[in-house]
Amino acid sequence: MPEITEFDTIAAISTPAGEGAIAIVRLSGPSAVEIANRVTRGVNLTQVASHTINYGHVIDPQTQAVVDEVMISVMRAPKTFTREDVVEINTHGGMVATNLVLQTVLSHGARLAEPGEFTKRAFLNGRIDLTQAESVMDVIRAQTDRAMQQALNQLDGSLQRLIKQLRQELMDLLGQVEVNIDYPEYDNAEVTTKQLQAAVQKIIQQLDHLLATAQEGQIINEGLRTAIIGKPNVGKSSLLNLLAHQDRAIVTDVAGTTRDVIEQAANVHGIPLQLVDTAGIRETSNKVEKIGVDRSLQAVQQADLVLLVLDGSRSLTAEDQRLLQLTADQKRIIIINKNDLTPAFAPQDVPELAQQEELIFISAQEQKGIEQIEKQIQKLFFQGIATAQKQAVVTNARQVGLLKQAKASLESVLAGIAAQMPIDLVQIDLTNCWEQLGAITGETAPDELITQLFSQFCLGK
Ligand code: GDP
Ligand code: ZN
Repeated sequence: MPEITEFDTIAAISTPAGEGAIAIVRLSGPSAVEIANRVTRGVNLTQVASHTINYGHVIDPQTQAVVDEVMISVMRAPKTFTREDVVEINTHGGMVATNLVLQTVLSHGARLAEPGEFTKRAFLNGRIDLTQAESVMDVIRAQTDRAMQQALNQLDGSLQRLIKQLRQELMDLLGQVEVNIDYPEYDNAEVTTKQLQAAVQKIIQQLDHLLATAQEGQIINEGLRTAIIGKPNVGKSSLLNLLAHQDRAIVTDVAGTTRDVIEQAANVHGIPLQLVDTAGIRETSNKVEKIGVDRSLQAVQQADLVLLVLDGSRSLTAEDQRLLQLTADQKRIIIINKNDLTPAFAPQDVPELAQQEELIFISAQEQKGIEQIEKQIQKLFFQGIATAQKQAVVTNARQVGLLKQAKASLESVLAGIAAQMPIDLVQIDLTNCWEQLGAITGETAPDELITQLFSQFCLGK
């Protein structure tokens, strides 16, 4: 972790942009109270008790003009979000006044905060670890209740605690190995090796368990990329509209209308979907349509889930068969639409459908059968591991990558023991694992990583 000396005082609007009734200009740093006091009339902020909220006016010290009527919270270090002195100016006059208040503190000693700089300070001052900082980011971006709950669980530090505990176990093992190296004459090698093996295997199990939460964690956070495919006119756009509860895609009777790929967010029982409606995937000579088809193929390849739509009121065509084959190896749900019309085929008579996973019959037009699709999505992707109470959950690719590296290091420990490698080599792998886990919480993360992570935040956080 970088050495902390002294920070300057930063300021930013820390409420979302837009016309909210109240906005907050937040200052953090050693001169926060003094700077705020310089631009305030009606109360002496340097004299008020910490953690109080005070009524006053922000004025322009040069002209004495009143900028806004405000409530000012004064919170002195260290019991603040950043562990520095924090002042929050609650403005009332809409965005224009809020911007003026910000400009006023900026021209009287504060510096405009970079995105994420408040949270970065909280991290650098030891108030939170990296997994918690990441969840601050996730809370800000949370799209659904589930994502919010997950982010809050992590903010509470459950992942951090588990990682800390595993690192402590590794540290103990390293201690034992060290004793072996320093006092080989006391070494009962066989017992120690067995103990080491058992302990390492136990940690690997726990890493595996954490990694198992990653898929759900990532889906909750980032959404499930879902491609809706099918030949023209089977009802893809109608289905997309139903799932998204909005009229976004164009629904028409002309085959091949949806030329472009249309994206739409939907929320299935708290699981966010990124729906992609594709033009019919088929060989075509029409140039415009060809672009759509290429993109559709791409959308299918990149999808976490494919919704393959068939028209139940017409016989299947070679094109339907092709789509069935094309997606055979993917996580998919086969949907037979237009169930309100007379069926044109029986699925058990169609070889590609006969031994199929569950088929789902719907009528997009009559809005029937949608909840079966939703149930199937839950079944395919969601065992509820991630949402179990207070469970440590891995939520992003960075954490997954480090956990995999940590696991690989431990596997190399086991391989080293099996090959009767010198104990120093085992020690290196154990140390690597300890460091990789430390990078998850930020204890051993390099400076550039920290800078890069925090730059993803919104302004004012
Ligand atoms: P896409 O080309 O696959 O996107 O299909 P659309 O969603 O544009 O629908 C094509 C046509 O089928 C439209 O006229 C829809 O009204 C009609 N359609 C869609 N779903 C159903 C359904 O469940 N039943 C009936 N009878 N017609 C439907
Ligand atoms: Zn369409």
